[in-house]
Amino acid sequence: MESPDALQVTLPSPLVVLDDERLLRHGVRLLLKRDDLIHPDLPGNKYRKLHLNLRAAAEAGHGALLTFGGAYSNHLRATAAAGRLLGLRTVGVVRGDELAGRPLNPSLARAAADGMRLHFLDRPTYRRKTDPEVLAALLDRLGPAYVIPEGGSNALAARGCAALGRELRGSADIAAVACGTGGTLAGLAAGLGPGQRAIGFPVLRGGAFLAEDVLRLQREAFGGRRGDWRLDDRFHGGGYARSTPELDAFGADFAARHGLALEPVYVAKMLHGVFTLAAEGAFAPGTKIAAVVTGAR
Ligand SMILES: *Cc1c(COP(=O)(O)O)cnc(C)c1O
Repeated sequence: MESPDALQVTLPSPLVVLDDERLLRHGVRLLLKRDDLIHPDLPGNKYRKLHLNLRAAAEAGHGALLTFGGAYSNHLRATAAAGRLLGLRTVGVVRGDELAGRPLNPSLARAAADGMRLHFLDRPTYRRKTDPEVLAALLDRLGPAYVIPEGGSNALAARGCAALGRELRGSADIAAVACGTGGTLAGLAAGLGPGQRAIGFPVLRGGAFLAEDVLRLQREAFGGRRGDWRLDDRFHGGGYARSTPELDAFGADFAARHGLALEPVYVAKMLHGVFTLAAEGAFAPGTKIAAVVTGAR
């Protein structure tokens, strides 16, 4: 494989001011951290989460990556793109064997076009995918590979995301980020400077449990809890990839005001949370918030 250092990335990602009267009224300034511009095929936190794993795979002499995801996983798509760009074999283990034999959705079709071998797993077995015997059976069947967990979140992913926090040092009081697995928040919070804090907005229902996952990732990556972070789980809009009329209206209005179409599954929910908190008076006048645009529409 080629070295992951060969990838052409835009880092640090741009940080741009976004004036919005609904925030300025409360004395709040918003900055957008445009991680969506890091790489066209490995956008946002997906590059940050993958690159140390790609390096580890290369150093261990692996010629293949195996990872896991749902049928619309951005992580599967990014892993497939990384494989194409670096000359690595990729295998995606997809949740739900009912999908096998059906036409691929655009997300999986893209991954397959990038050379990813898709292996569909029935849901009960998929739930046990981290059991040693289930994993061993998968590797036996699909070939030896460097294994990256579902959503790409492991200790190396969190360490990769610490760079996001470091890039924001000195430029904001609060960093806001959407959370799926919480790996990005774990790293971001660890990289921030003293006096800065992070707020994570889970996009799945039951996001309160996520705090334990973020803590576990911080222990694995950094040896303990790092940084000042918390979760606000009021803004999932009904659950993963679901929405509400209010959330849809927020996204449409934001696009009309600022000419930026928000990625709906994560980024729109996070910004909806930031704007709602500001309207509730949660931020002291003078607060600067850096909202991480973790993906593109
Ligand atoms: C994957 C993804 C996330 C979630 O990142 P986690 O590290 O799993 O919390 C957020 N935003 C976008 C656009 C993503 O694709």
